[in-house]
Amino acid sequence: MFTLTPLEKSLQNYSNAFISILETFPMKQYTALDLSIGNTTLDNVDITNVEACQRYIDSILEKNRAEVAYGGYLEQRNLYNGNAHFSASEDKRNNHLGVDFWAKAGTRVRVPLDGRLHSFRNNSTSGDYGPTIVLEHVLDGIIFHTLYGHLSVKSLHGLFVGRAYNKGDVLATLGTPDINVNYAPHLHFQIIQEMGEYQGDYPGVSTTKNLEFYANNCPNPNFLLKAT
Ligand SMILES: [Zn+2]
Repeated sequence: MFTLTPLEKSLQNYSNAFISILETFPMKQYTALDLSIGNTTLDNVDITNVEACQRYIDSILEKNRAEVAYGGYLEQRNLYNGNAHFSASEDKRNNHLGVDFWAKAGTRVRVPLDGRLHSFRNNSTSGDYGPTIVLEHVLDGIIFHTLYGHLSVKSLHGLFVGRAYNKGDVLATLGTPDINVNYAPHLHFQIIQEMGEYQGDYPGVSTTKNLEFYANNCPNPNFLLKAT
């Protein structure tokens, strides 16, 4: 039995019900997706190739009659191999710190709880987040953040720091691979307690060496969303 951190406890207590972060899809339209190195059905799929990755996701969606394939918190992946953006450091950054929600480009992202705009940016290097929004929230006196990556360019139009959002507001839409930058369309959703100096950006994958620090600062989004 492990104990929850104060933030994890507050996220868990925020709602008993599933929170749909894409459109208003019910939980039955979501299906779990395993992109980890342990998934042997991926042995013959090059998930670093956008089309091959999309075909694999489409097959999972079709088989489960779902609109959204989701998963990936602390998943170890081969998705980032061969990308200069991730292999600059001594050991590979391949531990994923958020949850991904794979769905069609243009799908609307909804704010999961009240908050304010912290920062936004188009992280347009190949393999990065593309258009990204970070919100700030306060729950039980605890300040934390949520990051939304791989959005459309128009999602950033008209934004300003401090803009207020209510739970359920449409925040953004999912970007296409040319914009998101070079992935099958999906939302990268990550909870970040302490942003440090980051603006419109924060590491979404970690080396194994730094994983303990990042996993502590980035709790499982499912404490909030309850996608099970
Ligand atoms: Zn991701």
